[in-house]
Amino acid sequence: MTHQPRKRFGQNFLHDSSVIARIHAAIAAQPDERLVEIGPGRGAITAGLLAAAGALDVIELDRDLIEPLRQQFGNNAALRIHNRDALQFDLHTLIHTGERLRVIGNLPYNISTPLLFHFLNQANCITDLHLMLQKEVVDRIVAAPGNKVYGRLSVMVQSRCHASCLFRIGAGAFTPAPKVESAFLRLRPLDPLPYPIDNSELHFRLVAAAFGQRRKTLRNSLSEFVTPAHFAATEIDPKLRAENLDVKSYARLANAVNASIKVNQ
Ligand code: SAH
Repeated sequence: MTHQPRKRFGQNFLHDSSVIARIHAAIAAQPDERLVEIGPGRGAITAGLLAAAGALDVIELDRDLIEPLRQQFGNNAALRIHNRDALQFDLHTLIHTGERLRVIGNLPYNISTPLLFHFLNQANCITDLHLMLQKEVVDRIVAAPGNKVYGRLSVMVQSRCHASCLFRIGAGAFTPAPKVESAFLRLRPLDPLPYPIDNSELHFRLVAAAFGQRRKTLRNSLSEFVTPAHFAATEIDPKLRAENLDVKSYARLANAVNASIKVNQ
């Protein structure tokens, strides 16, 4: 019996061999690199990754895909299959201290943002991520200040990673064809961070507040957090709007607010 793609698991299987070849070329896996693939599905990208790296961990949620994967790869012990939810998976359990992973995935689009944050929170053990996502999500992730899709996702991701859109992929490359276009994204966690954030929870809330009212000036949208003194100290113009502030300025502003919270405690 062949497996029917399941909507609830966000299953759109890649079948276009030229797209698969482009993905493998972009990743350019080398022997002995530690790779982990999220959601291997029917193994479209898996075979090339396994051949290039010599071994591979894969994390697949759908139980019904596990046995077919085992059979497809002839029970090859170098393919380590984890029948788990990637959202709950601690990547550190795959490696020894000091080792780093390369993360690859044609992600289920319905959970792509929470998965992305789950990986960013484990960035200290990741060399890079190559992810297939909905085109609009990739556009938002890589957008520069001033762009109309520059927003929360751009700031949160670019604070921690170098982000680049490698190429776009039409819906026809997948079975079934999704309703959206896709794009292939590369993220490289920055280490050390160029603009360290002292309190990431506060930074997250400040960025959300700024873009929650993106038409307003920062003076108004951030009045709950940021005083005129903070704007003055960081030399950030309070008349700017959220979309005009770069990643570095968000870090500086959040750090200034955080410093004065500490002083007042
Ligand atoms: N990489 C394959 C499949 C992509 S479809 C290809 O390119 O053809 C997305 C895959 O992610 C499916 O196999 C789906 O079962 C799996 N998946 C969905 N949610 C998941 C989760 N939370 N954790 C791990 N895998 C998941």
